[in-house]
Amino acid sequence: MRVGVLALQGAFREHIMTLEALGVSAVAVRKPEQMGDLNALIIPGGESTAISKLMSAYGFYDAIRQQHGAGMAVWGTCAGAILMAERIIDALPDQEPLRLMDIEVRRNAYGRQVDSFEADLEFKHLPGGPFRGVFIRAPWIERIGEGVEALAMHDGRIVAARGAGTMATTFHPELTGDPRVHKFFLDEVVAS
Ligand code: GLN
Repeated sequence: MRVGVLALQGAFREHIMTLEALGVSAVAVRKPEQMGDLNALIIPGGESTAISKLMSAYGFYDAIRQQHGAGMAVWGTCAGAILMAERIIDALPDQEPLRLMDIEVRRNAYGRQVDSFEADLEFKHLPGGPFRGVFIRAPWIERIGEGVEALAMHDGRIVAARGAGTMATTFHPELTGDPRVHKFFLDEVVAS
């Protein structure tokens, strides 16, 4: 299995390290041509406005949609979850979502007071107890469509979900040293 991590901006190195710890060959994707033989792509957290600008400059919008259509699974964490949504609430005016997953995501949903925090989450289907959610100026998932399953909630809001060949988490599993969410993605989303 080959998994790419979009390496334009943000926390891509931590995803690559977690994948390698699981024995998966991980590729830092800087050009659309690198996605040809990938089983999956992770869009990392970072700043979604910066990532979207770079994605359009390098032609990633069409390439990701095309590869996803051809079977490449996609997981977005935080800024990545914002970018793969059907609709972004509080997007910058020219910020376009990929529309890979029928979810609506609210940017910077927690506002300034609690813009970064950690919380233990009940993550559905995950063995071994709660998962530590690291939220950094995080969005939340305001609405999910048919065929999308909520995987984790925090304070009544959906913070993780999966669809067909897609997963979105509004927190940062790559920053915890706990590989269970990565393993879940590889076993249950990529393989299916
Ligand atoms: N607030 C950021 C954005 O809008 C996301 C933060 C993150 O990815 N940790 O892109």
